[in-house]
Amino acid sequence: MKNLWGDLTGVKPVKLTRELFKGNPYNGKKPHEKDEVLRILTEERGVSPVKAALLVEIYEYQQKVLQGDDYLKAGLYIGIPFCPTRCLYCSFTSNQRPYSEIERYLEALISEIEYVGRRLRESGMGIETIYIGGGTPTTLDVRQLNRLLDAVLHNMDLCKLREFTLEAGRPDTITAEKLQTARDHGVDRISINPQSMKERTLELIGRSHSPKDIYKAFEIAHKSGIPVVNCDLIAGLPEESVGDFEKTLETIIGLRPSNITVHTLALKRASRLIEQDPEYHETHSDVVAEMIALSHEMLRDAAFRPYYLYRLKRMAGALENTGWCREGTAGIYNIRIMDEQQSIIALGAGGMSKVFFPEENRLERVPNVNNYEVYIDRLQEMLERKEQGLFSMIPEIYKQTESLRRR
Ligand code: SF4
Repeated sequence: MKNLWGDLTGVKPVKLTRELFKGNPYNGKKPHEKDEVLRILTEERGVSPVKAALLVEIYEYQQKVLQGDDYLKAGLYIGIPFCPTRCLYCSFTSNQRPYSEIERYLEALISEIEYVGRRLRESGMGIETIYIGGGTPTTLDVRQLNRLLDAVLHNMDLCKLREFTLEAGRPDTITAEKLQTARDHGVDRISINPQSMKERTLELIGRSHSPKDIYKAFEIAHKSGIPVVNCDLIAGLPEESVGDFEKTLETIIGLRPSNITVHTLALKRASRLIEQDPEYHETHSDVVAEMIALSHEMLRDAAFRPYYLYRLKRMAGALENTGWCREGTAGIYNIRIMDEQQSIIALGAGGMSKVFFPEENRLERVPNVNNYEVYIDRLQEMLERKEQGLFSMIPEIYKQTESLRRR
């Protein structure tokens, strides 16, 4: 298969495109005009003209959506590391545990929310976006979800908030009561992730839901009044043909989501799939390339536009994941996390906070532990890590922001 990405090996090619447009004084890179950016991408880096144009299109649209850099705000991530079952390709922190264990976790997580909320208010750093992800946050029952969202609302200063996302993920965990609770707490984006509409595929990848659950989840989502519904699909799932993928995409477009993220199947190190077939990503590259090309055609025809893109190692065909949106519904959190020009504060097991120092164009990572039981036991240590790595650094972030403004 033809290499469409040339020598770009990083996971964030749009970030590289931004550096070409804006330059980077820390490594002596000068800013370039659009034609020159396209020339560098295609002639010097070997990116195909189609992918280079896609990068530039996404970069330009992101600039419009972001309305500039904002170093004194952060994105807030809250992780719920539980799912009803484990998918074949999963490499995330995803546990299948009883109610009592989820309760124990919630207790610790709410303590972290209280601590971080208080320290953010004291430091004056605002929150631009909230993303509750996982795992599958709607694994929580309605009472637990209510408790979690209450804790967010009561502890965080949300006066600068631009978007509030709840990843509902698995369609079989979505109920009208849960989405009503989410809506009542100000959630304005949810994600329903069917991955495929083919029954056999859902069985093969270890999902505990059927296509019918997906239709039902969309109906509940639209009735809930939550304005933005995102939907995740995967190209290249086991035993799927281009025709199967086309049918899935056609059905999903008909279900009227505002965003569709098309992932290319990636063979992750901790997944069950890599154990079953370590060469999977190479043997399926042509068919996946056809699926991705088809998704571009169908989504553009249905008035979606690409707004963020990233790549992973061992993706089928060395392709990419692309987020598509209808006008006015791009996810700011998704853009910022790939852009790496703003701090992300991550709460819960597996949360990786990233502290951004604007003058040095540098990110420092402050991790929480991955294992949820260890997280509960060592919560105090997680708070101390945040104190040292993040909160004590906020005066420096202010100083650097001010210094950049004066230039
Ligand atoms: S829903 Fe996501 S996090 Fe949960 S098991 Fe599947 S891939 Fe993993």
